[in-house]
Amino acid sequence: MGRPAGDHAAGTWIDVAVPVPLHRTLTYSLPPAWERMVAPGVRVRAPVGKRSLTGVVLRVHHEAPIGFEVRDVERVIDLGPVLDEPLLELARFAADYYVAPIGETLRAFLPADLAPWGSRRVRLTDAGALGVPRSETERRIREHLLEHGAVALAEMQRDLGGDDLLGEVVELERQHRLVLETLERSGGRYRSAVELSAGSVEDLLERCGRSPKARSVVDLLAALGRPATTREVASRVGCSPAVIRRLARIGVLRQFTQIERLALDRHRLEDRRAAPPIELRADQRQAIGALEQALAAHRFGAYFLGGITGSGKTEVYLRALAACLESNRAGLVLVPEIGLVPSLARALEERFGDRLAILHSNLGRAERLQEWERIHTGEARVVVGPRSAVFAPVIDLGLVIVDEEHDAAYKQETVPRYHGRDLALMRAREAEAVAVLVSATPSLETRLNLERGRFRELRLTERAGGGALPEGILVDLRRERFDHRPGAVHFSDTLRAEIDRALGGGEQVVLLRNRRGFSPVLLCRACGEDMRCEDCGLARTYHRRARRLVCHYCGSTLPAPERCPSCGEEALEAIGAGTERVEDRFKELYPGIAVDVLDRDAVQRTGSAAAILERFESGRVRVLIGTQMVSKGHHFPDVTLTGVLSADTYLGFPDFRAVERTYSLLTQIAGRAGRGSRPGRFVVQTHYPDHYAIRAALDHDDQAFAREELRFRRTFHYPPYTRLVQLLLRDRNRARGEERIAEIASQLQGHPQAPSVRIAGPSPAPLERLRGQYRFQLLLRGPSGAQLRAMVRDCGLHESRDDLVIDVDAQDLL
Ligand code: ADP
Ligand code: ZN
Repeated sequence: MGRPAGDHAAGTWIDVAVPVPLHRTLTYSLPPAWERMVAPGVRVRAPVGKRSLTGVVLRVHHEAPIGFEVRDVERVIDLGPVLDEPLLELARFAADYYVAPIGETLRAFLPADLAPWGSRRVRLTDAGALGVPRSETERRIREHLLEHGAVALAEMQRDLGGDDLLGEVVELERQHRLVLETLERSGGRYRSAVELSAGSVEDLLERCGRSPKARSVVDLLAALGRPATTREVASRVGCSPAVIRRLARIGVLRQFTQIERLALDRHRLEDRRAAPPIELRADQRQAIGALEQALAAHRFGAYFLGGITGSGKTEVYLRALAACLESNRAGLVLVPEIGLVPSLARALEERFGDRLAILHSNLGRAERLQEWERIHTGEARVVVGPRSAVFAPVIDLGLVIVDEEHDAAYKQETVPRYHGRDLALMRAREAEAVAVLVSATPSLETRLNLERGRFRELRLTERAGGGALPEGILVDLRRERFDHRPGAVHFSDTLRAEIDRALGGGEQVVLLRNRRGFSPVLLCRACGEDMRCEDCGLARTYHRRARRLVCHYCGSTLPAPERCPSCGEEALEAIGAGTERVEDRFKELYPGIAVDVLDRDAVQRTGSAAAILERFESGRVRVLIGTQMVSKGHHFPDVTLTGVLSADTYLGFPDFRAVERTYSLLTQIAGRAGRGSRPGRFVVQTHYPDHYAIRAALDHDDQAFAREELRFRRTFHYPPYTRLVQLLLRDRNRARGEERIAEIASQLQGHPQAPSVRIAGPSPAPLERLRGQYRFQLLLRGPSGAQLRAMVRDCGLHESRDDLVIDVDAQDLL
């Protein structure tokens, strides 16, 4: 068991990050037999209280811990590091910066159930087979290997157990009594397969005896002339696997484990028209040239690649990736959601083929492990994925791309609450790689960094194919005659005329309604009941197709009632419109026109956004209605009209980023129109025709937006001019929550640094009640992020339980 601390300085100790809410590592003693195997980045099993957890070794040292009992580590899991030093460094940085427990941070770096890494096959040498065992463990190992031949180390560990097994294996290898052979790969799917043993088919048939099934197995394999999986053989012959096993035992067949690369949800390349070769424009050539130069310098460099929607930014970074690979370094591409840009996945696949690893967020377990492993072994040299791909174990990283860097999806909303873009910059710095942030509508943070010279700017000035940006058309909803209640949706005459024109010309249309479901409220006309969620206190959205009332905040659902559950009247009315109702209304106005919806419900129903996008791309569907999903980097050359049914959805939100979000959404949706040879138009319906975000989006005046918005942020001390930490306290009991947040506030106000920090609140959060909990918040803003973090730590807030959320650089303040 554990040794008392400090009794012999010659020992070895390891500091381990375990997945518990602790802001430090735990120290364990390391039995001498394992010393040779353990290094930073190796996983171990260690006792934590009464449990046994898997943690990552961060440090191996000889400094005897003083003043507390040290326990032994239980088991070493990997034969080599699963994370290299730069990634461990990134984890330390992220844990510190986001005030997150180090063990929980590291958990985000690794696939959930990664098998022992670097596992080998163990085989006895002649010396090992013939020599006299020198220990009981060696005797057990020898017997096991004599019986089973070469076996995977992980399997032997499972079968024999014993804490000293690994240590003994390493020792025996040193004495050349056994050898450790590299296994091909441990991820992917293992399948049992068989092939005919050497010899003539007649001989083999002979050895089958009289069993007709056995003879059929040999006949089949002879006819196939290749190995086949046990399952294939059993099903084609119609025999049980026992027959096949028997044939293997008597030596007619050789049985082995086949490892296949899983077929990912790949896009069928063959039914695509081959893309015409692209002749780069001068501005693109210049940007590529600058990036090639940066890559040749083998130093960290931060770049921003800007330019209007459709200016060919993707083409620029694809070529930079190719250049990076030429110099034998790897590339990492982050996107908000790869499922929404199948065209990018396709382009990457076309160019990089088997050297590409795709980390979809909806990969199955086996596929995820396989892609992770292909990256870790260096087989995959280009990695594309969502924010968590920033932790992919890429070797020799040369280039990091963050596409659509302004997208809020880069912020993770659970511990560790990191920002993918910011960690990507950090990661590039650690790796001395080049980082490129890409966007037509950069975040305000990036704009300020540009202004301050922290990023070098590469800008594309023209639209690909010589097209112009779409003409913006404003519809002032205040002058329209319709029901003006919030959430109501109206097809103005102007919008309808534009739709008629586009459809009449054989073109396609995209319509944005950033709200799912049929109607935001189902209201009882008789008694005013509006079907609020008991846990969140907000009206449930009516989903008519599914006949359910859904709370969009916590996801809880109820069957939609026929009559009011409060007063019993049949007086229920759907108020306002979501995508489902917009689709209905559209079908009334345009019968016979093929229309599709793209939103989270549709994706869930059909299983993939790609299918919906492909139907639209093929032209079979003429009109696509959807939430902000339709605004992402799609390229549909036949879309000449995009329409925003209401630009006001976000503007009323009590969040300082609401205006930025509105501008960026409008600009992105505008950018979907007119990307082909025909000019595009862009209709915006709003109650705020004079708002600067709407004006700027309509006029494509990016500078005007940036000027106004930066002025607003500076005047009111918001990011990017300050750093922001949100503290959010959740409590089922309102009074207790109020008391606790008040106490935290007074603690912070008593901190010596408090005078240079703005502390807003405590106040109820804009969504005051969610999932049955009351929510209270404090916003800390100050010139230095380090100072804010120090205050939080000095007040011991990081040690509090998980009902206090500490969100550094919070994106969503609702
Ligand atoms: P962005 O990312 O800037 O919105 P994309 O990179 O998606 O724009 O480019 C839009 C389309 O223009 C793509 O189909 C791309 O292949 C094409 N394209 C890019 N560069 C050129 C060029 N120089 N000439 C013609 N087409 C181009
Ligand atoms: Zn709810």
